Amino acid sequence: MKTKSRLLLIVTFMLLGLTAATIVNISLNFREYSINSAVEKSQLAANIVKDGLTAHMVNNMMDKRQYFLDKIATSNNIKSIWIARGENVIQQYGEGLSNEAIRDEIDKEVLRTGESVQKITENTKATTLRVTIPYKASTPMDNTNCMSCHNVARGDTLGVISMEFDISDMRSSGMLTILKILGINLLFIVVVLFLINYYVTPYLNLFSNLQSGIKKAYSGDFSHHFVSKVGGDARSVVDQMNSLFRKMQETFGDIKYNLATFIPQGCVSSSDPLYEAKTIISELSDIYKFKKTIELDGSKDEVYTRIIDILKLKYQVGHFAFYEVNNVTTERKLIYSTEDENICFEKTNKNAMECRAHRTNSVTISTEFPNLCQACLAVDVNYVCIPFNINHDISLTVSMTSEDRDEVEKMKKNISSIKHYLEAAKPVIESQILMEKLRDTSLRDGMTGLYNRRFLEEIIDKIMSHANRHNETYAVMMLDVDFFKMVNDTYGHDIGDKVIVALAKVLKNSIREADLAIRYGGEEFLVLLSNATDEGVMQVARKIHSAFGALSFDVGTAESLKKTLSIGIAKFPTDGDTIWKCIKYADTALYEAKNTGRNKIVEFKPEMFQGEDF
Ligand code: GH3
Ligand code: MG
Ligand code: MG
Repeated sequence: MKTKSRLLLIVTFMLLGLTAATIVNISLNFREYSINSAVEKSQLAANIVKDGLTAHMVNNMMDKRQYFLDKIATSNNIKSIWIARGENVIQQYGEGLSNEAIRDEIDKEVLRTGESVQKITENTKATTLRVTIPYKASTPMDNTNCMSCHNVARGDTLGVISMEFDISDMRSSGMLTILKILGINLLFIVVVLFLINYYVTPYLNLFSNLQSGIKKAYSGDFSHHFVSKVGGDARSVVDQMNSLFRKMQETFGDIKYNLATFIPQGCVSSSDPLYEAKTIISELSDIYKFKKTIELDGSKDEVYTRIIDILKLKYQVGHFAFYEVNNVTTERKLIYSTEDENICFEKTNKNAMECRAHRTNSVTISTEFPNLCQACLAVDVNYVCIPFNINHDISLTVSMTSEDRDEVEKMKKNISSIKHYLEAAKPVIESQILMEKLRDTSLRDGMTGLYNRRFLEEIIDKIMSHANRHNETYAVMMLDVDFFKMVNDTYGHDIGDKVIVALAKVLKNSIREADLAIRYGGEEFLVLLSNATDEGVMQVARKIHSAFGALSFDVGTAESLKKTLSIGIAKFPTDGDTIWKCIKYADTALYEAKNTGRNKIVEFKPEMFQGEDF
């Protein structure tokens, strides 16, 4: 209705402006016309007076001139009329009648200049037109020869004739005309406003009805029914809008419902559901692209790298750490961190249950409660930690940190969105874990749990390039049980297997984490020691040798079985410039041990190797 009032106000102002302009125009024209007609009338009267006076002079009736003037005044509605003699006439014929003296400055001016003067005097009571014309001496050519009686030159001013006309009626009739015009115009304005109101109101009602419907639509409500009291185009607009809204309500309801299946509602905070739908769809499309990409990734670590990139590039998280938790051992492994220092206590990595987010399987936000996570040493830093369970074996933890509380608020908003990415990555990570397990199975020996020869073949190139880059040394140990065939032959394969498993255990217990024990074949094992001194290598060899030799195997008889080992050692890069060569040389040393009585440790010497260099 605001529009209607504005429209009516504008029209009223325009019509009032038009009325005012008309009145001003008419008043000015009316006044000019009235004055012109009064002046014309005065000119006429002045000429009559002039001619009459001349006739009086010619007929020697000048003593009757006052009567003549009075008559002229009465019959021409002249307020006052008088004549005034010029200096030359006074000198020749005297002052004349008492009322024929110069009355004012206008009389003087006309006598002096010989030019007629008109002047309008207005006050609140009346409007007066004053006309003073000169009476000039004329020659016989002008019909009357003034110079025959007057001692003057032709054209000299003999006197003046002054008249005053009351033209007040001009003003009052002007006022009356203006009032009439004003009245008619006001009536016209009222009629116009009434008609506008009558014809425009239904359209304006329709307009505000459309407005409120569209406003509701912004908040996702398309239930509005549009109505119109006017027909024609307006009716068809209303019908079209109603059918459009019906369609929108049906399809939009479906879209909303379907979107909620993918992403729970409320994840995107907007009062505009269309915008919300657009944001959710673009989020879904991003997640879809992400999923398609990670499905082609070759390893779990590659998927992790992509999650890290999403955190960095999409969510612009400046400071965060990404962990993988082994659910079985509760050990936590740092996959990536933007910082050198971790905000969690060291013990959290050993036991992930110290991490509140992991233990409670709920997002931990430091701004919600002071000292929320007891395993966190950061006092000045705010953290948002998101736990995410992949499967029975593995969980992930994203720990985002910031000193800025506003940034924490931003992180909080992104939590569910980040979880969607983790959710999308979950099946891919799971299948990568499975693949790793399968790979691991094919690379491990089922009986001992040690890596097998295939694994060694796969890893050896990596070990070599790492060794070359970091100037690392390796000692290769080849181990073989002495007279093992006899165990199988005498006590059976089960006892033989027990011996093999026992030796594997001895190896595991005798080497460091960085070293590698491999079941090379049958009862032959390979140990790879990294960066060990010559003395250190011998110590490990002796430890294995004596630990295995000390073992007693129950074979169901009174006497238990005891076995010995032969060990051959070669060193990279002192003995050979590749690890493969060193394996061969270690085998050569082992052969030497076997040939020289067994149950001993032999270090490789070049003279032992009879074969061709390779
Ligand atoms: P040497 O002192 O010369 O090593 O004599 P040896 O009898 O130990 O000879 P060798 O090392 O060649 O013996 C290997 C035997 O190990 C042959 C095979 O029957 C046996 N063997 C290989 N793998 C297994 C296994 O997984 N379990 C059992 N029980 N025996 C195995
Ligand atoms: Mg043997
Ligand atoms: Mg053997």
